[in-house]
Amino acid sequence: MRLSRLRLSNFRNLAEVELEVPPGVSVYFGQNAQGKTALVEAVYLLAIARSFRAENERELVNFDAAREGGQTLVDGVVEYDDPEGRPHPNPLPLGEGTVARHRVIVGYRASPSTAASGPGYRVHKEIRVDRMRRTATSLVGLVHAVLFSVQDIGLVQGPPSARRRFLDILISQADPLYLQGLQRYQRVLQQRNRLLRMRREGRARPDEMEFWDDELVREGAWLTWRRHEVMDILTPACVRHHRDLGGGETLVLRYRPSVPLSAGADGMTGSYREALQAVAGRERATAATAAGPHRDDFDIIVNGVDMGAFASRGQARTLALALRLAEAETLSAVRGTRPLLLLDDALSEMDADRRRRVLEKTADYPQVMITTTDVEQVSDYFGASAAYFRVDEGRIMPCDLLEMGEK
Ligand code: ATP
Ligand code: MG
Repeated sequence: MRLSRLRLSNFRNLAEVELEVPPGVSVYFGQNAQGKTALVEAVYLLAIARSFRAENERELVNFDAAREGGQTLVDGVVEYDDPEGRPHPNPLPLGEGTVARHRVIVGYRASPSTAASGPGYRVHKEIRVDRMRRTATSLVGLVHAVLFSVQDIGLVQGPPSARRRFLDILISQADPLYLQGLQRYQRVLQQRNRLLRMRREGRARPDEMEFWDDELVREGAWLTWRRHEVMDILTPACVRHHRDLGGGETLVLRYRPSVPLSAGADGMTGSYREALQAVAGRERATAATAAGPHRDDFDIIVNGVDMGAFASRGQARTLALALRLAEAETLSAVRGTRPLLLLDDALSEMDADRRRRVLEKTADYPQVMITTTDVEQVSDYFGASAAYFRVDEGRIMPCDLLEMGEK
């Protein structure tokens, strides 16, 4: 799939941007704080329906626009010209002929807030696909994208929640039913935890607990099984990419579900019940659900050493890149259409050889957007085969690098 056009207004420091995004590789270069990550953030927002970095989506609204009660728009047109591409499972009107085309708009309207703390405004978010209102959940899976960012080192060295989030974003893009299941699970978890607290205070009936146990097992068993299935596709891809990037031979990814795996979704249900029984005493003491996919993790092991604790910075970077490449490959395999790759400053800490190996991998994807402060790191490899844009104080301008070189 590819993004053919992008319009932004009042998105962070990108006040007005209108971009025909070329197919193939496009490179966005500029100094620090000019809007490169903001651009990538806006594109990725079309895929995951929220910002990958904002604590509160209020932050996305341009400061001046927020003060004046204006609105922020991310407006993209995506095209699927891959004949093998499987349609989105949520029915959507298709464009003319074989090329499906959708227009996706994510908007935020700022209005004054009377809350005593905070920035003095709040935002209302609205999503439209081909003019129809959509929920965030139903947008995910329509635009496929994989983001490589400088923060990806956290996939290796960060807490288990970083790796769960990685799996959740990947599987949600691959299978929108997963995201719906995940949201149901989170609601059940909240209810069950509330009930555990009430029980500790002697205010809950035993049959109420039974009901929420059943719900938890039903939603959670399936999520665990789905993660296991996707790890089976992800793992060999990650091992291969890691080797190609020069990271050594013996990478092992090991899914560590909180509830032990048991064959099939039905087997998982039994396994989950047993796990709940085993933690019952602990749950009584802590009043928090102690078994389930909210406590999953996966280990990353190189030459027998757990990289979560012992990776060098370079090792962690290479592993993170391998995980992202494997994410893109898994998404391609499951959805039958290759995602848009977004590389935000992702190559800056690599040596030249490893950078080249990563850039070689981008050839497998129909559209790749790369940001960098050092354009030569990228243009040395792609030369005239990529398109170049200068990002400067929130403006994005096409730029002929070769001409610049001659002057
Ligand atoms: P770097 O090379 O350092 O990563 P960048 O080009 O990726 O820089 P961005 O992270 O895109 O920079 O940020 C661009 C600028 O936008 C920053 O100066 C930031 O302070 C500013 N900015 C962030 N949010 C808003 C907002 N809501 N309104 C206006 N400006 C904002
Ligand atoms: Mg940046």
